[in-house]
Amino acid sequence: SISVVLFTCDLRLHDHPPLAAALDGTEQVVPLFVRDRAVDAAGFAAPNRLAFLADCLRDLDAGLRERGGRLVLRSGDLVDQVRKVAAEADADEVHMTSDVSAHAHRREERLRGVLEAEGVRLHVHDTVTTAVAPGGVVPAGSDHFAVFTPYFRRWSQERLRDPLAAPRTVTVPDGVDSEPLPSRDDLSGLSEGLAAGGETEGRKRLTAWLRTGLAGYEDRHDDLAGDATSRFSPHLHFGTLSPVELVHRARRAGGPGAEAFVRQLAWRDFHRQVLAARPAAAAADYRTQHDRWRSERTAGQDIEAWKEGRTGYPIVDAAMRQLRHEGWMHNRGRLLTASFLTKTLYVDWRIGARYFLDLLVDGDLANNQLNWQWMAGTGTDTRPNRVLNPVTQAKRYDPDGSYVRRWVPELAALEGPAVHEPWKLRGLDRAALDYPDPIVELSEGLARFKQARGRD
Ligand code: FAD
Repeated sequence: SISVVLFTCDLRLHDHPPLAAALDGTEQVVPLFVRDRAVDAAGFAAPNRLAFLADCLRDLDAGLRERGGRLVLRSGDLVDQVRKVAAEADADEVHMTSDVSAHAHRREERLRGVLEAEGVRLHVHDTVTTAVAPGGVVPAGSDHFAVFTPYFRRWSQERLRDPLAAPRTVTVPDGVDSEPLPSRDDLSGLSEGLAAGGETEGRKRLTAWLRTGLAGYEDRHDDLAGDATSRFSPHLHFGTLSPVELVHRARRAGGPGAEAFVRQLAWRDFHRQVLAARPAAAAADYRTQHDRWRSERTAGQDIEAWKEGRTGYPIVDAAMRQLRHEGWMHNRGRLLTASFLTKTLYVDWRIGARYFLDLLVDGDLANNQLNWQWMAGTGTDTRPNRVLNPVTQAKRYDPDGSYVRRWVPELAALEGPAVHEPWKLRGLDRAALDYPDPIVELSEGLARFKQARGRD
């Protein structure tokens, strides 16, 4: 018999439950990826992610070829394409990974209906893109955890399945055609410093991380200039690394670095279980604060300055320029730029979240929208009125100013932490800088925010 393995956000061969299950029951498989038209139509196909995806598909194809197989690529309506390929291959089963967005839920239901009408069984596998499945742990009286700490307690007690080895051989039936694979060289508008994608690259990073990064993670993860985080986020988004495997390997390494790192992976699972249970939270406030946010119409210039990294707050500008240059931003940068947009400029979090999704190579509906809501104070498990002061943050997380000097060359001549407050320079020194004055006083922003939230 023959199975189709539909790859989506799980573009790897190691620890791949749908592929393992298909190979267990059948002689031949069709590894299929469908470039889903609906994802493009929703404006979710940003160039940086398409480039990373192209790398992933090429690497997946190469890995399959080493094992005697190949990847089949189609584009169009995902459900139509899977049905067609299953018919062409005369397959009786389709295996795929579960996903959390509203679109993914609808797509899966539609696919199940269409396939079943043709006598093809659909198997949907969990714990491929999370360590613990959404809904795998739930609190009494609700379908999801809204607070991280109790979630993490239960999450930590779950027994994870063992990671699966990559298959040795993959046999693909003849007669199922593929479209040519995309290449990042065909794309324009990419960030210059964009990371390379693919499982091979992800596994190389994993080996290096376990050897040299993990142990220092707890102490160094918030150091903006130190850049001491794993940078696994695009690999987790596209599934070129497996969360189950990461948790196992980090726990085996042990120590405070591993503990802190595993906790971050649990945050990722946490947001996914929230979105799975409340898909509307991708666009609507999880917890309404009755904000009357400023918008493109009322804060157009401020929003432009924030996007361009010309707010006059060096740490905010450095982070926004890192985003544009690399298609990635350090977590501390994401926190303080999101706080600046929503709390200091009092702009709707959806505008910031959209801009991040346009650029981030790891842009992910669950992690992005829910982290934005967390910072905007409309999300789960949040302190709604917390405002990060960009100058205090800068001095704490970029104490000698190296991160700012790296990304804001106009300020490169300023030594030490003075780089965080260029407005304090006087006379000729200030006039010599081609760098804007702050677009807003922090006290003014705070007063506006407090008034808007009805709190003093
Ligand atoms: P590490 O520090 O090495 O952490 C390891 C992994 O844990 C990450 O790859 C990520 O998968 C997960 N993780 C770490 N921090 C978080 C967190 N706060 N929430 C959920 N998971 C986390 N992450 C995305 O993957 N995609 C996004 O679109 C995204 N948007 C964000 C927007 C805002 C406003 C904020 C504050 C955070 C956002 N994050 C997002 C979370 C976090 O910033 C990134 O996951 C992290 O910076 C990626 O770098 P890393 O892989 O080196 O992380």
